[in-house]
Amino acid sequence: MALPAVDTLASALKDTFGFSAFRPLQREIMEETLAGRDVLALLPTGGGKSLCYQLPAIVRSGLTLVVSPLIALMKDQVDSLLENGVKAAYLNSSLSEDESKEMWRQLFRREIKILYLSPERLLLEGMLDTLEQLKLEFVAVDEAHCISSWGHDFRPEYRALKAVRERFPNVPMLALTASATERVRHDIVEMLALKNPKNFVASFNRPNLAYRIVPRLSPIKQILEVIEGHKEESGIIYCLSRARTEAVALDLTKKGISAEAYHAGLTAEERSRRQERFVKDETQVMVATIAFGMGIDKPDVRFVIHHDLPKNIESYYQETGRAGRDGLPSECVMLYSSSDAAKLRVFIDQLTDSTEREVSSRQLSRLLQFAEGSECRRVSLLGYFGETYCDERGEPTLVCGACDNCLTPRQEVDATEVAQKMISCVLRIQKHSGFSVGLNHIVDVLLGAQVEKIKKWGHDSLSTYGAGKGRTKAEWLYFGRELVTAGLISINHQHFNTVEVTSEGLTALKEKRPIRLRAPLVSSGLTAEKRKEQRQRLGAVDYDEEIFNKLRLWRVGVAKEKGIPAYMVFSDATLQAVAAKKPQRFADLRGISGIGEKKLELYGESIIELLGEQ
Ligand code: ADP
Ligand code: ZN
Repeated sequence: MALPAVDTLASALKDTFGFSAFRPLQREIMEETLAGRDVLALLPTGGGKSLCYQLPAIVRSGLTLVVSPLIALMKDQVDSLLENGVKAAYLNSSLSEDESKEMWRQLFRREIKILYLSPERLLLEGMLDTLEQLKLEFVAVDEAHCISSWGHDFRPEYRALKAVRERFPNVPMLALTASATERVRHDIVEMLALKNPKNFVASFNRPNLAYRIVPRLSPIKQILEVIEGHKEESGIIYCLSRARTEAVALDLTKKGISAEAYHAGLTAEERSRRQERFVKDETQVMVATIAFGMGIDKPDVRFVIHHDLPKNIESYYQETGRAGRDGLPSECVMLYSSSDAAKLRVFIDQLTDSTEREVSSRQLSRLLQFAEGSECRRVSLLGYFGETYCDERGEPTLVCGACDNCLTPRQEVDATEVAQKMISCVLRIQKHSGFSVGLNHIVDVLLGAQVEKIKKWGHDSLSTYGAGKGRTKAEWLYFGRELVTAGLISINHQHFNTVEVTSEGLTALKEKRPIRLRAPLVSSGLTAEKRKEQRQRLGAVDYDEEIFNKLRLWRVGVAKEKGIPAYMVFSDATLQAVAAKKPQRFADLRGISGIGEKKLELYGESIIELLGEQ
């Protein structure tokens, strides 16, 4: 098929979705698929993956098939498309016989442009024959990483998708995912039998997210402070255990916040009920284990809080990524406890499988380096994925201006004595026993702890035994890690994570050099001024709050009446744009992002009327 005139895509984008600009790589991806090529696209959450197949589907004359793993996701997308006046459908078991017949009739009359199917249904007897009769023109595979057993969400049914390629060798395929390592990428290409695919990898920077890590002191109070800044806005709180989700949800409820727990211990029905209440804004805060995430596309989650340490940096990125898909400023706060870290370290040191121990240990070290570090969070997060952070002009930079470390740089403290005590403790233990020990044991010796190994090895006879009683265990462990970062001691990950003193450490001790280290995390909140600065950096726009609230209220009514989530009527971004522009006439609404032709027709008059009531 020939490439459509340059503007076909842009005008479809404007007319159907009311958007006037493409997100990065969207246009390139669409053009390649329209030119008949296979494409593999990696876009972060919120990167706008759905549009990459929806818009080409609208422009094409034939049928587009979208393979997606979850009914909830399909339903959400189909409802959204219908709201925008695009004929789309998905096959599901909840349709009555009549409804199902009607759907097939529409498909055969070529009235439906986009058909969503789960991989299971795709392989039902006769489905491929039917698709052939329906003149399939384009196939999109969403969440394509599900095909790989190396991915974090392997679904064996996805393997069967190869049959689609075999049956339709000349129909272009688009595989999309937000998470793919080299290996998973390779699997996707091979298992879908993509032909010489064009690869697209977008930046994984999420410019509208602010990262903040604060010491966990009184979690409920700190959580309430975050929620306070997000009145009537949705948020997710991630906890490590089911019991904790229940406890936190209960505490918040007692404080008058509408919160519910979500975890794998609930029945499937209960989970989907709770999820639906969240999506429809009946519940403000979801307190969840990581069982909650995939399968929710709610674009207006304004904050994500980690009550406990995430599993590793990758999980942290995925979980925080659920905030702000609609591009509006959103906040990610981690409540960090160095004693959690210490407990995890002890647990990992006791793992018997050496590979598992090494991998977990390295992951934890990277995570702690990130959490305790004083580098810009965004720079450090992207660096982990091998990406250099660049500013709006494309220049590499080391500050994002919106994270805690950029807004309130960390202080340094005099740690000469701390360093001397720790370094000499390491040396004395080595001298006494002839072997090295882990950081945890060294700290136990400094604290004068009564533990078995200390007695067994005679470390209670050392002069450094009990020399560090003035500080807590968590503080010592923190400073230990800081000394590693400063290069004065090192940890041998290949050998039970034992601690060694570096030559620099030896010199520093001998010459009694003054040593300065970063102070432990202290700050909790942001001042109003800093908060304002942050919002500007995240691209917040000025708008009339009164009008915005009025529009939101109106939106709640419309959504209720139609039985769809509020964001499907209009996104917050669109309502803010309306509240900024304050259009007087119907025609003025046309220029606003998110108001396509169908929605203009449906809601244009109501909005103008509402604004006229001022
Ligand atoms: P992903 O699946 O990559 O996480 P989605 O496809 O769900 O992202 O898109 C996230 C949000 O961004 C949606 O609310 C969508 O309407 C919006 N969006 C996508 N593309 C654009 C665009 N070009 N301009 C404005 N908003 C967009
Ligand atoms: Zn920063």
